[in-house]
Amino acid sequence: MKATKSPLPALAALGLLAATAAGAGPADARPPNFIVIFCDDLGYGDLGCYGSTKNRTPHIDALAGRGIRFTDFYSSSPVCTPSRASLMTGCYPRRVGMHEDATGHWVLIPRSRRGLDPAEVTLPEALKARGYATACIGKWHLGDQPGHLPTRHGFDHYYGIPYPNDMQSGRRGDPPLPLVEGERVVEAPADQSTLTKRYTQQAVEFIVGNRAAPFFLYLPHTFPHLPLFASPDFHGGSANGRYGDSVEEIDWSTGQIFSCLEEHGLSENTLVIFTSDNGSNGRNGGSNAPLSGGKGSTMEGGMRVPMIACWPGRIAAGSTCRELATTMDLLPTFCRLAGAPLPGRKIDGHDIAPLLFGEAGAKSPHEALYYYRRRQLQAVRQGDWKYHLELERTYPSWSSVEKTGKGRPGKLVNLRDDPAEEADLSGANPEVLERMRELAARAAAELGDGAARGAGQREAKTLPASAPMVLAE
Ligand code: MG
Repeated sequence: MKATKSPLPALAALGLLAATAAGAGPADARPPNFIVIFCDDLGYGDLGCYGSTKNRTPHIDALAGRGIRFTDFYSSSPVCTPSRASLMTGCYPRRVGMHEDATGHWVLIPRSRRGLDPAEVTLPEALKARGYATACIGKWHLGDQPGHLPTRHGFDHYYGIPYPNDMQSGRRGDPPLPLVEGERVVEAPADQSTLTKRYTQQAVEFIVGNRAAPFFLYLPHTFPHLPLFASPDFHGGSANGRYGDSVEEIDWSTGQIFSCLEEHGLSENTLVIFTSDNGSNGRNGGSNAPLSGGKGSTMEGGMRVPMIACWPGRIAAGSTCRELATTMDLLPTFCRLAGAPLPGRKIDGHDIAPLLFGEAGAKSPHEALYYYRRRQLQAVRQGDWKYHLELERTYPSWSSVEKTGKGRPGKLVNLRDDPAEEADLSGANPEVLERMRELAARAAAELGDGAARGAGQREAKTLPASAPMVLAE
């Protein structure tokens, strides 16, 4: 390599390189807006543009028609809290200590003392360095205690439920499901039938109110997580029961948001991402077809999710990307497009702008993908190969297959030919198997596995005490 000093690092430091590389010129100095529509438990096969014949999703399909559809996009976890911690930090859940609750639950429950360490730099915090207005509208699930709420993690505005809509256990002493505005409970129990409609109204108001400034809107829908609700306009309207009703209302909502962008001349300066926090549990109408497994599992159906990115004029209409990408990549990608500095600590996501923009020869920036379930490393993907580790015991889960927590043999599958992960090819591919085992050992050393800590793990923040969120008097 030549020793000539390149001017590029200086430009990068100023954020200019990022803007130029994204296709933005000097006349287009304003950074783009970002919208992330994040469904809860929407499966890989639940949208028309991903093969569903049950749910009608014309607006989401139109978004895909105007943008790019990813076939191999992953959430970093098969359950809610870890998945959301990843999206917010660009890290594997274990790296930021959010892979399970301190009391042994998979996800945070009401009054959990655990939440993201304030020292982590979240996606909205990173964008605020470039003057972004930020809002979180919907289900948070990264802590309901003051100190863990969205308003303490970079969001100017919050409106939604702080944890899942099924967490109203009287036995556990849960309060009625709170609907929160800012840090105050404004309704309890929340009227779930109108949540999607109210989120949409709030989202549109936020877009219109911030049309002059760059903004980041995070819209984590409450549905199609169980129990299922839809407003009277959608209730009973689908051919797929209450599940289809809730998905079709989310489709309507997506259409409203895109229309609002068009109406205000914002669509060509806004990157819209539509995806899900984990797969469907496969019951009650949801589908991960043609994948196997579901929510809570490290089979593809648990973690591979639909992902659509739309940015008219920048992303080629009707395109498809088959490269591996993840929700962890949104933080570094948005930072690059906004010209914002990356968090000054190790993250696991990568810039996927070359994939979004269809740059010639663009490849996945991930050497490998690691599938953790709760604290256990269970699988590794590299290229088309996926290795399911042999396990002495698996952690009990709600999926019937592994309810006993018994061990299982290992398996090497090729996802390109066998998306259902049926055929074990380990016997014929000893070199691949060895490489995968090396990758797994590397992940365990860096991120930890089971009770063993990794060298690169950080801690979540655990508060000394907690109280339920209740309606203000
Ligand atoms: Mg979920």
